[in-house]
Amino acid sequence: MADMRPDKHPMPVQDAVIRSHNFGEVALGYSEETAIAEAKRCLNCRHKPCIAGCPVKIHIPEFIQEMSQGNFEAAYQIIARSSALPAVCGRVCPQETQCEGRCVRGIKGEPVAIGRLERFAADWHMTHAETAPQRPASNGHKVAVIGSGPSSLTCAGDLARLGYEVTVFEALHLAGGVLVYGIPEFRLPKSIVQKEIDALIAMGVTIRTNVVIGRTITIDELMQEHGFEAVFIGTGAGLPKFMGIPGENLKGVYSANEFLTRINLMKAYKPDASTPIQQAKKVAVVGGGNVAMDAARCARRLGADVTVIYRRTEAELPARREEVEHAMEEGVVFRFLTNPVSIAGDSNGWVQSVRCQEMTLGEPDASGRRRPVAVEGSESDTEMDCVIMALGTSPNPLIKDTTSGLETTRWGGIVVTEDTGLTSRENVYAGGDAVTGAATVILAMGAGKTAAAAIHDVLKDR
Ligand code: FAD
Ligand code: SF4
Ligand code: SF4
Repeated sequence: MADMRPDKHPMPVQDAVIRSHNFGEVALGYSEETAIAEAKRCLNCRHKPCIAGCPVKIHIPEFIQEMSQGNFEAAYQIIARSSALPAVCGRVCPQETQCEGRCVRGIKGEPVAIGRLERFAADWHMTHAETAPQRPASNGHKVAVIGSGPSSLTCAGDLARLGYEVTVFEALHLAGGVLVYGIPEFRLPKSIVQKEIDALIAMGVTIRTNVVIGRTITIDELMQEHGFEAVFIGTGAGLPKFMGIPGENLKGVYSANEFLTRINLMKAYKPDASTPIQQAKKVAVVGGGNVAMDAARCARRLGADVTVIYRRTEAELPARREEVEHAMEEGVVFRFLTNPVSIAGDSNGWVQSVRCQEMTLGEPDASGRRRPVAVEGSESDTEMDCVIMALGTSPNPLIKDTTSGLETTRWGGIVVTEDTGLTSRENVYAGGDAVTGAATVILAMGAGKTAAAAIHDVLKDR
């Protein structure tokens, strides 16, 4: 008999005042007792609607039933059949619009905390499992994987398990993609991503960092001169957008990607870090998505007063509600219906203030959201010494410009066949943000999985 408690068991979190001064993980994870109690809320529904909400179709009721019995390793093994990165997805998946969004317990209360249970099972496995991943026998086929984000790690892992000799080429000095350079430590500890990468290396995957494909070496060269029979492109969408307003070239204006990379990957907040970051006192973050929340919360942890500037209202904020609430608890201030029109600098070229215009909401635009309209004569200046633009990203054109026969969309996304990830170029596959534009970890992983299966289909009989 299921426990009919209407709400989820709360996730223990670090106190908001304390955590706004450190980069430690905010959500502390369920205890064994709480995980079992939460698992008992699951009705083990006959039609299993939650599974339809998960892009990689984890057998959710099955793993939750094992958890409700305290069989945590068995629960993990069920999840691992469908997902290569459960400790990551349990933390960062937008569950409210995916698996949990379909849970029947959500009709008259809160859904089962599927993400939290998945995170618990994955963490339990990491601390208790004794078996190291085995290195499968080689099948002699070589595959190159470009980029090392979730799409690439999934593709590499699936192929390595089948015996392929996989080499991952990553432009940065550390593997992990947005999981390490974008999503901050307080939401996703780097050690968790590193354990996943270590498991791939143990299975025989070679990871070559500091290799920019298209500069150091091209895809054509990898295939024609280095014997790679297939290539997977998982290079993400890391090219930032700017507003094009006066003052954007001043010192102290960052794209969110650059700001987060300096903090997350290069530990710029440490006094001995070789990559500096401006120790700003008043930071404006422009945008309202998850990336804006991450940048704002990082700036707050560096000691700044932080204001998020967003041109629509709180109701239209695209960021996850949980991230917005955490940011507010940590002291981030929000200015809604506000849009920057220019940035002014001091005599040394550093940001000094931001001029903003008030907005009102007009008729719905093509996306169905009401269009923000400027209020005439409403401009005012606010003192700021740093501005972070979090306005979205698109794929970098480098791969397209240096690979022959690779078709892309108008905005630079690589064109693929949906059920295989095959591009317009024979034996070259792609997936993740490089194809869809900025999306989610789990969708990128799904694309990596699809491409790995398609590559195996083509190469297995050669
Ligand atoms: P990426 O993770 O972008 O990895 C691409 C990799 O390719 C990078 O390491 C890059 O350096 C490398 N690369 C690029 N060009 C080259 C080249 N020419 N040669 C070699 N290597 C190259 N999603 C969620 O589901 N939940 C979240 O909470 C969430 N938060 C986010 C927070 C931030 C700050 C950002 C930026 C994104 C967030 N996302 C989140 C989105 C999610 O992280 C991405 O959708 C996902 O990482 C895309 O995976 P990917 O494998 O396509 O590429
Ligand atoms: Fe839900 Fe994401 Fe886990 Fe799927 S991978 S069950 S969507 S948390
Ligand atoms: Fe359990 Fe909710 Fe899935 Fe039903 S929909 S099986 S209650 S998780």
